Amino acid sequence: MTDSARANALVIEGGIVHTPEGPREVDVHVADGVITSVGKVAAPLDAQVIDARGMYVLPGAIDVHVHSRDPGFPHKEDFGTLTAAAAAGGVTTVIDMPNTVPAVDGAGILEGKAALARRKARVDFGLWGLVRSGTTPDELEGLAAAGATGFKAYLGYAFSLSRKQVIYSPDLDDPALEPPPDYGTLARVASVIASLGLPLVIHAEDPGILRAFRRPLETYADLLAARPDEAEAVAIAAAAEIAGASGMRLHVAHLSSAAGLAAAKEAIGAGAPLSLETCPQYLWLCDEDYGRVGTAMKVFPPIRTAGDRDALVEGLSQGTIGIVATDHAPHTDEEKAATLDEAPAGSPGVQTLYASCLELAHRLGDVWRAPRWVSEAPAVLAGLQESKGTIAVGFDADIVIVDPSRLTLVRPEIMRSRQHHSALNGLDFGFSVHEVYLRGMLIARDGKTVGRASGRLVRPARS
Ligand SMILES: [Zn+2]
Repeated sequence: MTDSARANALVIEGGIVHTPEGPREVDVHVADGVITSVGKVAAPLDAQVIDARGMYVLPGAIDVHVHSRDPGFPHKEDFGTLTAAAAAGGVTTVIDMPNTVPAVDGAGILEGKAALARRKARVDFGLWGLVRSGTTPDELEGLAAAGATGFKAYLGYAFSLSRKQVIYSPDLDDPALEPPPDYGTLARVASVIASLGLPLVIHAEDPGILRAFRRPLETYADLLAARPDEAEAVAIAAAAEIAGASGMRLHVAHLSSAAGLAAAKEAIGAGAPLSLETCPQYLWLCDEDYGRVGTAMKVFPPIRTAGDRDALVEGLSQGTIGIVATDHAPHTDEEKAATLDEAPAGSPGVQTLYASCLELAHRLGDVWRAPRWVSEAPAVLAGLQESKGTIAVGFDADIVIVDPSRLTLVRPEIMRSRQHHSALNGLDFGFSVHEVYLRGMLIARDGKTVGRASGRLVRPARS
């Protein structure tokens, strides 16, 4: 096998393949970046043959929740380092959040960001557009036409008029800031978003409740008290009501609490078009880990109690929560070294998404559920279900070869992000990403990137 980044004809032989019908020991044939056969067929003479015996052959992950920080904060991360970490971990598509600078609130800005990303991206990428309190129907339609995956509304975050960025400010009444979108904003934009056939993602923390419980963060208990689970439950219930009334697809980002899950279940039971995402940090950690992990686990909404963690694992296991994404949100190691009160919220995570989910699925009794959480369900959310997220004929050959006999040790030295800390630091997962293919091109092997930036903007099929 060569390190050539291009492969016209490729055959992955002898692995156990995650197919729509379940795991099968079959070969996967690829030509010109697309899967041409999944079965036992002789390899064409000119094909490059990959020996995958003893390996799992899985669809590339689609991380629907990352923050590239690009443009705006390249000292934290950029599209090159983000997607190097993604490639190393078996994530072949990332969907980037719109709180870069300038914020992605119009078609021209989205097009500029896509052009910048394309020069650096090692994996395919989609872009979320931003809903502000003053967003107009024309802006939403322009973003959709420019290729936005859908839209994001940060309920607890204000918009800086001077720097044109979304910032978390506990002082939501600051005159230099545009107030966060509220339920009135959601009700106003819902029918437009529904008619575009795209999803709205919400950061679900009710601003009124955050304001009421604001306090200095001296201990981790203060953080939980300042951002209580009822803020999440109230925001989900209200937004789901609006989604149900309008037919808008609503997606809850980074679900963090048992109370939020209960509110979502009730809304789904009542027919709301709601999908749920949680993140590895909420599935693996709880408040008791703060003494060991420190500010690397300061994220919004917060990582809560063992009871919340167990409820989220149960929700994922039962299928109420369909998607695991990372909320990969780097700040510098120096920024994260500040006090709990001063350290910014967010941590890197894209590189360990697949390994952490394989380990969790294995512990829940069926390792083959992991590709559903990180590939199949995210493809549907992002409107990519006809081209990505599945190993089947006609799909992009975004393929991850995983070694189930080698460990992933989450430690700073393996990290390809610009920042090397992780909320999951110190954990060991019993699966290791061996080789990663993007549209048939080898892009990473054993944690190191291969070849050049060849990522493309992915546009959603509108439902
Ligand atoms: Zn986020």
